[in-house]
Amino acid sequence: MGVGKVNLRRGVILDRDGTLIDVVRDEETGAITTAFHPSHLRLLAGVEEGLRLLHDAGYVLAIATNQPGPAKGHFGRAAVERTNDALVTMLADRGIPIAKVATCMHHPDGGAGGDASLVGPCPCRKPKPGLLLDLMQELALDPAQSWMLGDTSSDVEAGHAAGLRAGLIFAPNRCELCPLRPPHGMTASTRRPPDLAGATVRDLALKIANTP
Ligand SMILES: [Mg+2]
Ligand SMILES: [Zn+2]
Repeated sequence: MGVGKVNLRRGVILDRDGTLIDVVRDEETGAITTAFHPSHLRLLAGVEEGLRLLHDAGYVLAIATNQPGPAKGHFGRAAVERTNDALVTMLADRGIPIAKVATCMHHPDGGAGGDASLVGPCPCRKPKPGLLLDLMQELALDPAQSWMLGDTSSDVEAGHAAGLRAGLIFAPNRCELCPLRPPHGMTASTRRPPDLAGATVRDLALKIANTP
């Protein structure tokens, strides 16, 4: 066994929206957005318990999130940073340390009033593995002992591309899952399924804590 290898830690990298926190629904218009202000933060069921379980089991916790809002002109970079920081503080107040948040603010097409410097292809927007690879290097995580957890096929794909195992938050009443179900004509082999699935972070954490 290499000397460096034993120093690598195990980690769990989590998606943000739809995994840790809920999306934001405007009561009047019915429009759905992702959280872009600290007042929007609502932890999803099972998140606090699940993260505490993973932390207690020795996993380093980190977040990898796509936030294309600034590229699309929906809100600014500072709004994303402030919201991410508030989430980290909210979890820290509950005794759950988040080692690092990695954020992709790019978008391939952008939008009206968007920050032009963020528009175009990038190596970090999930399903690409850039955010995860950066986190693994910075936090010295061992891919063989680490996981990516998220609520979309994009998270699963990014996890696998980074050499991690991947767990899918699979709430049966949610439509974001549709991309995960192979459409007609697609063979099972064209998309590698998640290594685990569960309705909440807690469900996945229980399974991970019991996985060698
Ligand atoms: Mg998500
Ligand atoms: Zn990016």
